[in-house]
Amino acid sequence: MDYLCSECSVQLSKWEMFLNEKYPVGKLYCDFCQTKHEREVIKKLADSEADMHNDYTRDLIGDKK
Ligand SMILES: [Zn+2]
Repeated sequence: MDYLCSECSVQLSKWEMFLNEKYPVGKLYCDFCQTKHEREVIKKLADSEADMHNDYTRDLIGDKK
């Protein structure tokens, strides 16, 4: 059975299937789309961590009152 990238419908290589099994994101992506998708995920993670850091700092300041 052939596996196609859910974004650009290119046929996935064995290596790309391996990556999809190792890092499942709910969809199948080729190497190119995976990289593109990972950048979006990393950006979202960085944004949410920045938010958490702000909350944490606010809590610390609150405790010191
Ligand atoms: Zn693709």
